Amino acid sequence: MDILLIEDDLDLGNGIRIALLDSGLDVTWVRRLQDAQRQLDQAMHDLVLLDLGLPDGDGLQLVQRLRRDRRALPVLILTARDALEDRLLGLDSGADDYLVKPFALAELLSRVRALARRSYGFDGGTLALRGLALDAAGHRASLHGQPLEVTASEFQLLKVLMMRSPKVVTRRALEDAALPRSQANASNALDVHMANLRRKVGEGVIRTVRGVGYVIDQA
Ligand code: CA
Repeated sequence: MDILLIEDDLDLGNGIRIALLDSGLDVTWVRRLQDAQRQLDQAMHDLVLLDLGLPDGDGLQLVQRLRRDRRALPVLILTARDALEDRLLGLDSGADDYLVKPFALAELLSRVRALARRSYGFDGGTLALRGLALDAAGHRASLHGQPLEVTASEFQLLKVLMMRSPKVVTRRALEDAALPRSQANASNALDVHMANLRRKVGEGVIRTVRGVGYVIDQA
């Protein structure tokens, strides 16, 4: 699990970062809205932890932008009670959950895991399916016990397909999850990555559902 943490408070941000790392999750920490947007455009994340009061704007702008772009990335808002009541009643903004400051780090971790399970059916440990194993925290993949060399994009594709199995994953969702913005615009980028990945995992593991997307069947 790669988590994007957006929090301008140094002590709190650092405490959260360490707690996430200690529980085996990857975290990228930024303190400004502008840097968060750059991260979202360039890198792949599984979940966003978002403070609302940021030095260069309101965190809700980011949630609205994500939803406008129809990105399904889960967002957990971290905010003071006042900000919550003023601006966030009923989670109308498109956020998935919120936590009121001050909160215990244990509570934060349990919300993160719950949100990850709800969104992906998986909370950051090891995924195993059809002889493939993925250590999401360590970014390691193996096939029938042998290490499997995959690129960052291929790893993300495998992760999403394995997390969602036996559901079909749409091309759009795969592009969102696995390709940087710059590549997502190239119409055949996904096909190229998928062809390379299939060569590595062997024929018959990743099935094409014509006109919809791809799936890894359970057996
Ligand atoms: Ca703040």
